[in-house]
Amino acid sequence: LASRDMVPEGRTVRVGNVTFGAKKVVMIAGPCAVENQEQILKAAEGVKAVGAALLRGGAYKPRTSPYSFQGTEEEGLKMLRRAGDETGLPVVSEVTDHEQLAFAEQYCDMFQIGARNMQNFRLLREVGRTGVPVLLKRGIASTVEEWLDAAEYIMSEGNCGVVLCERGIRTFETATRNTLDVSAVPVVRERSSLPIIVDPSHAAGKAAYVEPLALAGVAAGADGLIVEVHPNPKQALSDAAQQLTVDAYASLFHKAAEVARAV
Ligand code: PEP
Ligand code: MN
Repeated sequence: LASRDMVPEGRTVRVGNVTFGAKKVVMIAGPCAVENQEQILKAAEGVKAVGAALLRGGAYKPRTSPYSFQGTEEEGLKMLRRAGDETGLPVVSEVTDHEQLAFAEQYCDMFQIGARNMQNFRLLREVGRTGVPVLLKRGIASTVEEWLDAAEYIMSEGNCGVVLCERGIRTFETATRNTLDVSAVPVVRERSSLPIIVDPSHAAGKAAYVEPLALAGVAAGADGLIVEVHPNPKQALSDAAQQLTVDAYASLFHKAAEVARAV
């Protein structure tokens, strides 16, 4: 179902008033985590003013260490929804367990499956049984083939609203948090009908590298970008080093629009 042969012209995925895979580069932005109502609302207002089309914010945070901030969970989803409603932005948030879906479905316009859960087959199948569009991140050590098989798990249950997200893979290089596999964009484009977007934030791990990676993603033909933006990155409870200020996001946004015009 995910293969290009099935739908040669490519699939589009609609989330609220936004369409992925329809030429225009879809800009998703927002903080790594929903921390409190004021923070997520400020972030939403900031990215909306810049021109973002969708708001991101993690409520169930899949942290590598059990001692790190674990997210604001159900309360976080409610805060995210309020911020989305106040700014008119559809919202995307990560689900980490199939038991969260019935609750999360009431608050999210799009579910994110994170890199750590790309092969959580139970979660993939259960998300596939909902009608909620899915942002499927590439696993940290997954091949494109394995990633497309993960999409197949969702689609084979009846949910074809899948958008793929390249977020960097683990290589021998330690200068960046992960290595952005820019090649994945044309490779996926050739093999799959699904829209593909790029997450420069989790690839870079450092704010200064986010803009160039974002521009590379758009130049490679990505259908969108998902960027972490925080009203005060230094104070962020997770991923502080890679989150952009609203001003830095504005710079990225306008340059990305120029690159998009050129490709
Ligand atoms: C995220 O987007 O908040 C996240 C945890 O990303 P990833 O799953 O790509 O690490
Ligand atoms: Mn993050």
